[in-house]
Amino acid sequence: MTYGFDTLQIHAGARPDPATGARQTPIYQTTAYVFRDADHAAALFNLQEVGYIYSRLTNPTVAVLQERIATLEGGAGAVCCSSGHAAQIMALFPLMAPGRNVVVSTRLYGGTVTQFSQTIKRFGWSAKFVDFDDLAAVEAAIDDDTRAVFCESVANPGGYITDLPAIAGVADKAGLPLIVDNTSATPYLCRPIELGATLVVHSTTKYLTGNGTVTGGAIVDSGKFDWAASGKFPSMSEPEPAYHGLKFAETFGPLAFTFHSIAVGLRDLGMTMNPQAAHYTLMGIETLSLRMERHVANAVKLATWLETNPHVEAVTYAGLPSSPYASRVKTVCPKGAGALFTIALKGGYEACVTFVDSLELFSHVANLGDTRSLVIHSASTTHRQLTPEQQAAAGAAPNVVRISVGLEDAEDLIADLDQALAKAHG
Ligand SMILES: *Cc1c(COP(=O)(O)O)cnc(C)c1O
Repeated sequence: MTYGFDTLQIHAGARPDPATGARQTPIYQTTAYVFRDADHAAALFNLQEVGYIYSRLTNPTVAVLQERIATLEGGAGAVCCSSGHAAQIMALFPLMAPGRNVVVSTRLYGGTVTQFSQTIKRFGWSAKFVDFDDLAAVEAAIDDDTRAVFCESVANPGGYITDLPAIAGVADKAGLPLIVDNTSATPYLCRPIELGATLVVHSTTKYLTGNGTVTGGAIVDSGKFDWAASGKFPSMSEPEPAYHGLKFAETFGPLAFTFHSIAVGLRDLGMTMNPQAAHYTLMGIETLSLRMERHVANAVKLATWLETNPHVEAVTYAGLPSSPYASRVKTVCPKGAGALFTIALKGGYEACVTFVDSLELFSHVANLGDTRSLVIHSASTTHRQLTPEQQAAAGAAPNVVRISVGLEDAEDLIADLDQALAKAHG
């Protein structure tokens, strides 16, 4: 029996609580779980039996969310963690080693650019930033030390859509896993695994939770990558010294990455999602498809209106027919290009600041994917640490404001934009 998306977003991974019959997934607010006896404990620690030991590794509430997200993405397994940025480190961790690199798109969330260009160097890892529209450049950037290719499906914030089938082709040819950040699109709009992704990462902080309550992240494994083929991924294919010599690929097959991320990643990095956060995200995910449809419909209305406004220089939304990426919507995100775009204002930096300060319904915050409509002036906030070149490449130049369209009445949002634009140009 295969169910549709709307059914799965409510039911996948959940079953009535075996102890009480509780229909909604309980919040298992516990750190540890009682072993039946010493043999049971040993079997759990040897990963011979699947069960609960300690909530840094696994927790029943978090486990339901993991299965829910894996199912919606069409993956073999998923691991949740404490934030989207934690998910990115956790995704790279089993693949990388000092001296290794990851080839990444220039069009990424600002925090990801900083994490990849600066922070991962402390681990001896590095990232090579490439224009992912230039497939020859992506191919040329891959060298013997490259261990992954990384991009966003619908990129935050520039209204950019990655040609995932083409990039997957390049990664495949090089025998490398493709990691896709699917935060802005969500599995409702885009299914990266069907388009060739090996791993999908999420900031569940955004649309999956949907109402700006908790931070969280997830890594979904397609289960399709052959970790042993190239000899480049010893943590997966060789005896893992961090887990008494266990060979994860051989032992767990399509679940190798998921088991490694729990048994070694969460155990030693400790970037664990707590059960309260999992509860909020489970509540949100039940209405994901309904919300995304309205987010997209509102975004199309606002972007269309803004495009004809005399104070607006440009709107970068792939959901507009005028976008250079409009043709990728059909293959990459057929149900819509998301609800996140940028506008470039006439009047530059000053006009942007007045505009943001004059909005009443939109909140000026460093977040996106909320029921509430949000704006941010990226150049003075999230993308502040980037060089002017990096800002421009990420779609966050000084005259650019990012808009995350919420679920309010589109007419009310347009009226608010109208009055704030008038003030910015008064
Ligand atoms: C927010 C975001 C992240 C980081 O997630 P956190 O939960 O804030 O750590 C990564 N990628 C994208 C596309 C995001 O929007």
